[in-house]
Amino acid sequence: MSLREFLLPIRVVLIDTALPENIGAAARAMKTMGLSDLALVRPKLFPDQRANALAAGADDLLERAQIYDSLTDAIADCVYAAGCTARLRDISLPLLEPGEAAQSLLTEARRGPVALVFGAERTGLTNEDLSRCDAAVHIPTEAEFSSLNLAQAVQVLSFCIRSAALTITEVMPLPLAERDDPPATIEQMERMFEHFEQALAEIDFFKGRPYGHLMQRIRRMLHRADLDTREVMIFRGILADAQRMARLAESRINK
Ligand code: SAH
Repeated sequence: MSLREFLLPIRVVLIDTALPENIGAAARAMKTMGLSDLALVRPKLFPDQRANALAAGADDLLERAQIYDSLTDAIADCVYAAGCTARLRDISLPLLEPGEAAQSLLTEARRGPVALVFGAERTGLTNEDLSRCDAAVHIPTEAEFSSLNLAQAVQVLSFCIRSAALTITEVMPLPLAERDDPPATIEQMERMFEHFEQALAEIDFFKGRPYGHLMQRIRRMLHRADLDTREVMIFRGILADAQRMARLAESRINK
């Protein structure tokens, strides 16, 4: 799955937003992080030029934004919703940090649309709004000053979602089924390490120094790379060529 596909089912819902500037800035925050689905519940002033001014090029999100009368309608098709709250009192839901919320949203998004819900500037999310959600999300702050600007809260969460999605798509190995070649067996790895040691000796990489520690580092590095069978063959091809060149050079010297 591509990054885009991971991010596509994630909807940002803004409830009772008073300032159109915040809607525009939230759209901008979303677009920078690759999110595109914006839903507005009872926005005070929308559409509004001030929203477009702050969107700074994210006008397409504003144009496509869906407007609803209630949170229930805005998330009717969602399989999961997380509500962002500045206050920690009286929360009877699982409380997540932004990174955990991002993970949950991305996991659930494989089953259908998911929502990240934000409250009004003055009052935040009502208990009723929160009760529609599966989890509450709190951005850790100073205890005495916990309320971020709405659009900045959207930015923080959008960034966490993008970071989590990048980790999944770029760093984590593809699931077995999606890899073309089977993973290398321990035996194949061991033969590759033996080959490594021989080849490094032949090209005189060790220069008479003890090389146990170095071989350990190489082992650790290559185990971490989670090689498949073909990748082991590529490595061994390189080693064989290095040996061939070393032997050729030696035979030339000996002539
Ligand atoms: N005075 C309100 C704060 C509203 S800020 C209150 O006490 O709840 C507008 C919205 O931004 C909030 O409803 C919430 O969705 C989000 N937000 C602001 N600060 C946040 C924080 N520290 N953690 C999570 N969401 C936050």
